[in-house]
Amino acid sequence: RDKYEKIQDEQMRRLVEMNLAYIEHYEASNLDQLSVKSYLKSDGGINTCDLTLPIGLGTFMQQIVERNPLPIQLNTIVTNIDIPSDKNEPIRITTKDNRHYLTKYVLITIPLGCLKANSIQFTPPLPDWKQNAIDQMGLGLLNKIFIQYPSTFWDEKLDDLFIASNSFRFFVCHPHDHILVAFVCGRFARKLEQQTDEEIVEEIIQCLKPIYPQIPKPIKWLVTRWSCDPFAYGSYSNFKVGATHETSRELAKECYDNRIYWAGEHTNYGGTIGCVDSAFESGQSEAKRIYNKLNILFRD
Ligand SMILES: Cc1cc2nc3c(=O)[nH]c(=O)nc-3n(C[C@H](O)[C@H](O)[C@H](O)COP(=O)(O)OP(=O)(O)OC[C@H]3O[C@@H](n4cnc5c(N)ncnc54)[C@H](O)[C@@H]3O)c2cc1C
Repeated sequence: RDKYEKIQDEQMRRLVEMNLAYIEHYEASNLDQLSVKSYLKSDGGINTCDLTLPIGLGTFMQQIVERNPLPIQLNTIVTNIDIPSDKNEPIRITTKDNRHYLTKYVLITIPLGCLKANSIQFTPPLPDWKQNAIDQMGLGLLNKIFIQYPSTFWDEKLDDLFIASNSFRFFVCHPHDHILVAFVCGRFARKLEQQTDEEIVEEIIQCLKPIYPQIPKPIKWLVTRWSCDPFAYGSYSNFKVGATHETSRELAKECYDNRIYWAGEHTNYGGTIGCVDSAFESGQSEAKRIYNKLNILFRD
């Protein structure tokens, strides 16, 4: 921060600001909330390889399910997990529609935000070390505001826009559909979630007007509010001040006599956290561990 304050050259200052803003958007939190120590040891700065799934991640899941017929229960909200002290007794899972499932092992993959919000009641309660890790890990907020205009008023060759401002800073451009997508993160995103869609869109127009005085009236918009979503309560995890890779390792560590396992992007301590591949890797590795345990059990 001190070095940044000393930059005299206005253009250089903006360039640095843009890079710092990029980190804030990538981590979905303000810089003062992030751990520099853990960021430098995580995936910060690696060359990422992005793949876009044009028709959504749902199709990816669909293919897995079609190839391996699995008894997946959709729209089933878990409310309680009761773990008997006797290891030979099954674990009881209760759902919101008051159904019960008995099982030997459980793999928990609900988002970190839901764990922080105690969406599932564990009996007996989670051990202190697990609860501490849940509290300690950072949870970012990244929202997108999609706005469609009647025409493309920006330079069609641009992939994205960066505005050196304190409010809306990043826009991804889709000139073909006349759509601009504003990315907002951290405290600003949290504040915007309290406003109506119309108020947010108006703020964006006011932000773009000094650059594009001819900006037309938008025709459609869509605003995400991840921190209000009861199945997410945030966007994805990061290392907040005080959190380390050990925190993520603790989030992944099984508990209740190795009967409750954990996966999800926030648990992928061996690789990246916060991404789709983080969730996939951790899910696969924990599922294999349970599978191997069951194999040994039935073989014996
Ligand atoms: C705006 C935004 C942009 C992103 N961009 C990228 C990107 O470009 N690249 C990338 O790799 N990643 C990106 N991510 C992150 C990525 O989406 C997540 O890291 C990934 O989806 C996490 O997967 P998961 O399985 O851990 O959790 P989730 O995908 O959140 O799955 C958890 C599931 O648990 C369900 N659930 C919650 N509570 C309960 C309950 N009580 N009972 C039953 N089910 C419950 C939820 O409904 C959900 O289906 C982005 C995320 C956001 C929000």
